[in-house]
Parts: sequence; C-alpha cells; structure tokens
Amino acid sequence: MKIGKNGLTVLEKRYLVKDEEGKMIETVEGLFDRVANAIADADLHFDSKADTKQTAKEFRNMMTELEFLPNSPTLMNAGRPLGQLSACFVLPVGDSMEEIFEAIKQAALIHKSGGGTGFSFSRLRASGSTVKTTGGVASGPVSFMRVFNMATEAVKQGGTRRGANMGILRVDHPDILQFIDCKKDNADITNFNISVGVTEEFMEAALKGEDYPLYDPRTKLEIGKLNAQEVFDKIVDNAWRNGEPGIIFLDRLNRDNVVPSQGEIESTNPCGEQPLLPYESCNLGSINLLSVLKMDKDGTYVIDYEKLKRIVNTAVHFLDNVIEVNRYPLELIDKTTKATRKIGLGVMGWADMLLRMGIAYNSDEAVVLAEKVMGFINENGRKASHELAKTRGSFPLFSESVFASGAPLRNATVTTIAPTGTLSILAGCSSGVEPVFAFAYIRNVMDNTEMIETNPILKQVLVERGIYSDKLMKEIIAEGSLQHLPEIPEDIKRVFVCSHDISPMHHIKMQAAFQRHTDNAVSKTVNFTHDATREDVREAYIQAYKLDCKGVTIYRDGSRDSQVLNIGSVQ
Ligand code: UDP
Repeated sequence: MKIGKNGLTVLEKRYLVKDEEGKMIETVEGLFDRVANAIADADLHFDSKADTKQTAKEFRNMMTELEFLPNSPTLMNAGRPLGQLSACFVLPVGDSMEEIFEAIKQAALIHKSGGGTGFSFSRLRASGSTVKTTGGVASGPVSFMRVFNMATEAVKQGGTRRGANMGILRVDHPDILQFIDCKKDNADITNFNISVGVTEEFMEAALKGEDYPLYDPRTKLEIGKLNAQEVFDKIVDNAWRNGEPGIIFLDRLNRDNVVPSQGEIESTNPCGEQPLLPYESCNLGSINLLSVLKMDKDGTYVIDYEKLKRIVNTAVHFLDNVIEVNRYPLELIDKTTKATRKIGLGVMGWADMLLRMGIAYNSDEAVVLAEKVMGFINENGRKASHELAKTRGSFPLFSESVFASGAPLRNATVTTIAPTGTLSILAGCSSGVEPVFAFAYIRNVMDNTEMIETNPILKQVLVERGIYSDKLMKEIIAEGSLQHLPEIPEDIKRVFVCSHDISPMHHIKMQAAFQRHTDNAVSKTVNFTHDATREDVREAYIQAYKLDCKGVTIYRDGSRDSQVLNIGSVQ
C-alpha cells in the first residue's frame, strides 16, 4: 500500500466505514477491497461467467498503487447500502413553485450522498413579474437561490460531505445585474459557486462596446438592452473583489453536446468541469501522472506510455462499471444517465510530473507536453470505450448522437479534468492540472504542534544538492515561492515555479491546452497575486474566451476572509 500519512488521515476521518458509535470498522485494505469488488461485479451484467475476481484484482491494484482513484462518492459508497457513486449532477429548475421545490428536494437527496449539483436559474421569471395564481410579484432567481442555499446548509450536518452547488444565470436574463452582485458579501450564498452563462454574441458585443438584448424567460420576447461592456466590467470587478462570478461559455458547452436531440446543456457541476443535460449524472476518476514516470537510462524521468495506456483501459472499464452498479438518487437520473453513459476520466499530479521531468510549468514545453499527454489519454480512452461497445453495446442514444456515422462508443464522453481536492491528498500528489500552490508550508497538527511540510520533489532535489535546511524552508514558507532566495541555484528556480510565479496568461494557456483534448471541461483556477488589477483579471477572461476555454474561474490572493489555500500555513 503506497498511501502516505496525510492520505491515511483523510481516509480515517472521512472514508472508512464506522459503526453507530463512530468506531472504525473498516481498514484501508478493506476499503479498496470493498470498492474493487463492488465495481468488478458489474461485469456479470454482461457476461454471467465473467472472471470478476481477476477484474477486482486489477481494479484494486490500480487504486492501491495510487495509479488511479475514482471520485470520492465511489470510494465512500461503493458496496455499501447508500451506493451512490457519482460526484456530478445537473438538475433543471422550472418556473413554478412545484418545480422549484422539487429541485430543492432532489438536490438534498444528492447532497446527502456526497454528490454535487449544478442548476441554471435562467428559466425563472424575473423579479417583479406577476404571479398569475396569486396576483403577487415574483421574487426572481436570486431569492430562490437563497432557499437552495439554506437547504444545502441544513443537509451539511448529516451528509457524507459538504454539499456543493453551481448556480448559473444566462447573461440575457433580466435579473443578471442582481445575480452578478449576489455574492458580493462573502457571507452570502456560501454553498454556491456562481457563473454567468455568456453567449458568443454577448462576448463579441462586450469586445466592441455594443448593447445586447435581454429576454423575458417566459415569453422569449426582447424586453430591454444592456451595454455588454458595462456588464462585462461588472463581472470582472466582482471577480477581482472576491473571485466570483466565474464565466461559462454556453455556446461552447452546446457545440460539444454530443446528443443535441436531448435538449440544451445549460449548466455544469459545482466546480465547472462537467457540463451535463438536466437529470444527467457523471462519475469521475483521475490518473495520478506521477505513477506513470519511469527512470530512463541516463537517470532522467520519462513517461511510460505503455503503462499509461494500460491504466486508461482499466480506468474506462472501471468507470463504465460504476454506471451499472450506481444506485441513483432518482429514477429519472438513472434513466438519463444510462442513456448517454458519460464518464469523466482525468489526471492529477500534473505539476509534480513536470517537476520530476525538470520542465517548468510556465514554459512552452509544458504546454506542448500537456497536449501530448492529454491527447494520448483522450484517444486511448475513446478506443477503450469503443472496445467496450463491441461486447456491451454502444450507449443507447448513440444513433441520435454526433458519432452515429462512426465506430460504436460505450460512453458519450470519456474525459473530464476534475479538481481532485481530496483524491490528490490520498494520492499524495499535486491537484488536477494546477501548479503547486506553495512549496513549503506549516501544518498545524491536532495537538497544536507545527510541522513543516515541504513538496517532496523539491525536498529531494535540495537534499541531493546539499542545500536543504529548516532555515531555508522557513524562508520559502513566508512566500510559498523560492524565486526570492539567493541561495537557490538558477536551474532549480527555473523549474520550481509555484502558482503565483506563473503569469495568469500562462495559467489560461495550460487550461486551453488540456481543454483541446478533453471531451468535457477542465477545472482550473487562475490564481492572481493580491496586487493584480481589474485590467489583469479582464485580460484573463478575454484570453480564456479567445483560447477556446469552456469557462474561467479566477482568484486573487487575500480577496476573501477565508480561503481554501493560504501561503504560510494550513490547519
Ligand atoms: N464535490 C462536492 N462537494 C465537495 C467536493 C466536490 O459535491 O465538497 C463534487 C463537485 O461536483 C466537484 C466534484 O465533486 O466538481 C469533483 O471534485 P473533486 O475532484 O475535488 O472531488 P474528490 O473526488 O477529489 O473528492
């Protein structure tokens, strides 16, 4: 078992099965056995003589070797009574009391099981419009979002993990200005990430400084105009203030909607990486790129593409099986999910892999390699899905999909790049495709002692070069970065760049490189230093648009009272 100390702590705290008194009744080995066996059993749905023992062994090894991990709900719930295995859901919100509160109930059931939900509120009538049955006045999308937020807050207490939501409003909804401001106060609507759903038409108008139309969601009639540049500036100003709202490019989500007959994609999951149709769910899994490095004859690290291909094949098999044994929170989600059978295979440990290979994250070489690695995973992932289709059949809506004239596919989408917030701690690698946030920091452990945590790859290099010392580490802790330290040699400084050493433009270039080879979307936060200007943020949003990203999320250091990642220390 390769799992490290921090990974074990997370497993013990949150993943291992406990009895009613909270006593642990599962070991770490037991967890991986439980998951591997439950997921391998799905093979029997297609072949009553399938060798599930052998498959379970492959699945278990892939997890215990930290080559691949499925999303948290699969680790928590596979082979257990709840049995809900997906991280991502999108629910529709219709313009009636019944539909609004139905969606709240459905979201509560999903949150209880560890899944996250995305909603578009664009169908709700504008605030101030009339309510026919009562003659009253509608309160509009933002006030209903507060109700969703409260429900999530209440479920938080009893669920397996904090419920998370994405709230989206189209830029041409009459309440858009109110929506852009709805999280201006950091303490408001805290269980939501919010994104403005923008259209190409809006972006072009914003770049030209023109007006654009607003539509009544019920009648679809134009009811006014706003200046696109002013609205865009307002989005940028708020994002500069505290990181929200983000933007999603709706037309691009729908350009890549592979079954357009099923309607429009109007939302993503909470962290933005998984666009879905209403009532669709998707299970994710991530390959740890550090695990596919091998030492070359000359002592440098290279990618073992054969190994990567084997992991991709087994991972696609695993994720397709998850769809079979998943216990969906609603009958309709079961049906909708199985009609397209979307899976989201992605990567984690990208920044660590670059460090090992001696390639700077903010170099053109890294961007080229990103395309190569993700291109390889995407291509082989699709091949694996094709192979599965030969024995299991293609996804039921295949003949209505954009793939209809080509080779059969088991899954309508294969790749997604998730944040891997927890998975990367379990695997002991950098998260998703993000750069390293800080090379050293202080971890406050439970008995109030402080421990210095150093990026293991940096530590190894510094030790080898004979310059490692606690004093040096403390200087790195102060900034997260090592660029300011004269005692660090230039060749190390060039490669060991952290998030704030990398220009926002390069963050976006990396996101765009991965996006080009990802069926769904890429979770990425463009991190700015505290002194970044609104103009810098504006430029990043425009570049994300120009480089064909599907969305963009930014965060300026220190712009919220409480932030997930801090330079200096973590709890
Ligand atoms: N998610 C959630 N609550 C959380 C964290 C994540 O609902 O507290 C969902 C959300 O849809 C997110 C997805 O899980 O986009 C994947 O997040 P991540 O990769 O960080 O999850 P992990 O599998 O590492 O726990």
